[in-house]
Amino acid sequence: MSATTAHIHFHQPLQELLRSRNREPLQQIEFKDSQTIKHLVESLGIPHTEIGILKVMDSRIGFGYLVKSGDVVHVYPATAVQDRLSGLFKDGQMIIPPNFILDNHLGKLAGDLRMLGFDAGYSNQYQDQELAKSAIAQRRILLTRDRQLLMRKLIQYGYLVRSLNPDEQLLEVMERFNLHSDIKLFQRCMRCNHILEPVKKKEIQHRLEPLTNKYFFEFKICPGCQQVYWAGSHVERMMNRLAEIFPGKEIDF
Ligand SMILES: [Zn+2]
Repeated sequence: MSATTAHIHFHQPLQELLRSRNREPLQQIEFKDSQTIKHLVESLGIPHTEIGILKVMDSRIGFGYLVKSGDVVHVYPATAVQDRLSGLFKDGQMIIPPNFILDNHLGKLAGDLRMLGFDAGYSNQYQDQELAKSAIAQRRILLTRDRQLLMRKLIQYGYLVRSLNPDEQLLEVMERFNLHSDIKLFQRCMRCNHILEPVKKKEIQHRLEPLTNKYFFEFKICPGCQQVYWAGSHVERMMNRLAEIFPGKEIDF
């Protein structure tokens, strides 16, 4: 059987993810047998979770489309307003709660998402298989820097974290899933993901440093790890950090 030649046009920022040194938007591909567009795009290094829309001759196609000789397939990135293929958004709204599961290199990002109130499953013990299984069974959005993990067939909701910098990672995820209006600060334990509960000061007073005991009156406790939280100087530091990461965004406490 002779080889089939087609072109794939990658719209930014997808070009940056191409594995080849040639990162021109228009990539020529040759292949034998029939191939789906999903397979071809992933073979160039881009996980299907990063793709929002696919088009041939101005018509939308799905991942299962079999690419024909002479096709020019346009591949658009998944964004909060343009994510038709994963089915995660409908009319600009996410159809599942924004719950995440993170791979074991993203501990800082997990803590930050919890700080903002998001359910962020994380353990430095998780293996790839467990991550994929939990993402699917619990309908969580898989966050990882591992492309192979996102290319697993059953992974429907995911995001390839680009930056190595924790502040930029947080910004990436907030923007990708349009989460700014869902922030609920200090509602969730940063260590273990449990929802915090109010606790009477007298119940935890014996655990407080003298200055905390003197100046603070409202406390929360994690029912999982018993960590006590209050609006101390660490809260101010975090608010300042958030103001730097999200300039111009109002974030309520
Ligand atoms: Zn905890």
